[in-house]
Parts: sequence; C-alpha cells; structure tokens
Amino acid sequence: MILVSACLVGINCKYNGGNNYNEKIFNLVKEGKAIPVCPEQLGGLKTPRPASEVKGEKVINKENDDVTYEYTKGAEEVLELGIKKAILKSKSPSCGCGKIYSGNFDKTLVDGNGITAELLLKNGIEIVSSDEFED
Ligand code: SF4
Repeated sequence: MILVSACLVGINCKYNGGNNYNEKIFNLVKEGKAIPVCPEQLGGLKTPRPASEVKGEKVINKENDDVTYEYTKGAEEVLELGIKKAILKSKSPSCGCGKIYSGNFDKTLVDGNGITAELLLKNGIEIVSSDEFED
C-alpha cells in the first residue's frame, strides 16, 4: 500500500480549504493501491488554517504562532501507519521533499524537507514528490 498526500486526491485539507487534485494519484486510491492521509489534520490542525513554513527546527504560521507540536504529532501518526512508500505533495511544510519554502513567507524555495517527509525518510520510507510523479 502506498501513502499519498490527501490533498492530491481532491480532499479539501489544504491550509486554505482547497486541494491539489491529481487524477493519476486519485486513480491509485480508486484502484485500492493507495491510502490518502493529511499529516496536518492528523496533528490536530483545523482546515482552513494559516499558512505555515519550516523555520530552522520549528514550524511557524503566518500569524507567528509556533505550530511545531502539531506538525510533529502529525508526522508521528503517519509513521505509525507502517507504510513503505509515499507520494507526497511538493513544497509543503509537512509533505515537501527536497524543496520547501524558506520560512520567511517570501515565496523562496530552499533545499529541505517538510516535517513528515523528513521523519519518513529517516525511517527508510521511499518518497516520491508529486512533482517527480508528474515527470
Ligand atoms: Fe496536503 Fe500534506 Fe498539506 Fe495535508 S499536510 S494539505 S496532505 S500537503
């Protein structure tokens, strides 16, 4: 079973209440090959919620609240699912793999991983970013 970011299959769990629907990834769920999960919701965050970015060791939202606890909790819940492969939404502070936003809310991308992606990688789980999946 593959884990996929829930917003990629059309679930409105994105910070702004929208989604990032991708038909090919949706079909994986429809065929019973993948399960959708949103780490930010699993960590207890509401939807919609303020945009957040990883800043150093923390996650800070646009209202300057520290939401590191919720992001970490969500990542741990995802890890407990015991999956071995994941397709995760690019650039997200939870799901992003390889590139994420800088932490300054200036639309700049920097090298790095979202909190969930980082924890999964550290535990040997294979991650394909949604951008790579498209390619
Ligand atoms: Fe999508 Fe992941 Fe953000 Fe949830 S945490 S909205 S699944 S990118």
